[in-house]
Amino acid sequence: MIVKDRDKINIKGKKVVILGLALSGVAAAKLAAYNEAHVFVSDNNETKELINSLNKLKELKINGELGNHSEQIYEADLWIVSPGIPQDSELIIRAKEKRIPIISEIEFASWYTDSPIIAITGSNGKTTTAHILEKMVQTDQIHGLLAGNVGVPFSDMVLNDLNNPNPKRVWVLEISSFQMEFIIHFKPFISIFLNITPDHLNRYSSMKEYIAAKMNMWSNQTKEDFIVYNVDDDILVEEIAESTSRKVAFGLNYHPEAIFQPNRTKIYTQEHATLIQMEDISLPGKHNLSNALAAATAANIIGIPNNKISTVLSSFSGVPHRLEKVAEINNIIYINDSKATNLDAVNVALQSLSQPIILLLGGLDKGSDFRSLLPHTHKYLKTVIAFGQAKELILLAIRDAVRSTSAMDLKEALSLAQNYSQPGDIILLSPGCASFDQFENFEHRGDYFKDLVNTMETSE
Ligand code: ADP
Repeated sequence: MIVKDRDKINIKGKKVVILGLALSGVAAAKLAAYNEAHVFVSDNNETKELINSLNKLKELKINGELGNHSEQIYEADLWIVSPGIPQDSELIIRAKEKRIPIISEIEFASWYTDSPIIAITGSNGKTTTAHILEKMVQTDQIHGLLAGNVGVPFSDMVLNDLNNPNPKRVWVLEISSFQMEFIIHFKPFISIFLNITPDHLNRYSSMKEYIAAKMNMWSNQTKEDFIVYNVDDDILVEEIAESTSRKVAFGLNYHPEAIFQPNRTKIYTQEHATLIQMEDISLPGKHNLSNALAAATAANIIGIPNNKISTVLSSFSGVPHRLEKVAEINNIIYINDSKATNLDAVNVALQSLSQPIILLLGGLDKGSDFRSLLPHTHKYLKTVIAFGQAKELILLAIRDAVRSTSAMDLKEALSLAQNYSQPGDIILLSPGCASFDQFENFEHRGDYFKDLVNTMETSE
């Protein structure tokens, strides 16, 4: 099948195999069926949810298998692979030997839309920035829609648009590095690079590979396209140097080339007009200011007026599970930051708060160095309560640098935290680890924490 020339791609009658039946796999299967391919889906797990998904696809005459990958997957003209499948897995190696073109779901969906794409990547802040930007790109002329890693598959949204074309569409896509592993033509009009810090190092053998995957995002961009980048991040600056796209900086320090400049009291434009006073921005923390500047810069490039940008910045109060205030009970504040699945995000949370903190840290370790949390950098960190699979590792790293103890699970950790707490403290769930040892995902972990806190509140 021809995949090299985007204009000549036609999957009608072709054998399209979809590996992985999570949300994005199901959406890709529907989009492929809509384009009249012979679709076969395959997932090596066999949960209730997957059985349900497959049954629904069967109604659309899509065949598939669960529980293992049979040889049938190699009878294919095209593979669309889930971001869960590593590049160096046996499956991928065999498919490459058989010269089956392999693409990601994001690449696939992008074949069927010509609307401009604003793609957001980085180690931290993608979801927050994507949500801010989606709110900004809503005018009479521009109908922005959010998709991608945020739980709304791009293929689903593209399929909706094929059924109901919208010439004003602009895509706001949250992109993880895994989704950039298999791209061919994917070409954002604006690529936003927020930051690069060590994450997912258990999947990538080196930082270099991890960065390379993220940098794929601009590989098809031309001089007509834009890169919006965090100029305070040295790794990023170096990595995008080679790109011929138009580069537009944003950052927390003064940079003459940036469209919006922050100072202590406000964000202002290149013409020295005030965009917004700092005190009017709803989201807390410097990291969120950085996210806000990234979104504002991209919005400006695509033609959103400043008054719209500032209205969003003053009204947007955050995304659940990211430094989300759950309750204040007996003068103790409970914060759910379950999305902090790496230590960089934990550090950011600790820096954003200015009251004594009891930190609930733990879950499934991703190969992190917990010593980076030691309190010489965090004067408000008072106690660490380690829980889950990583608890011993955490205690070993922290030693007696700060008061620490361990708990079996999050429930016990919360109850210990309450024993240690005093009025004026913050109890912060910012786990710095993946959730999969005891939870389905970070949302499940965060919702569980919120339920525990809220039940306490009602039983007070
Ligand atoms: P992502 O989608 O990249 O995981 P989120 O917006 O969901 O990012 O935020 C994830 C975690 O990272 C949250 O705990 C948040 O406090 C922290 N965070 C958000 N923005 C940034 C940033 N720009 N730099 C560092 N950490 C951040």
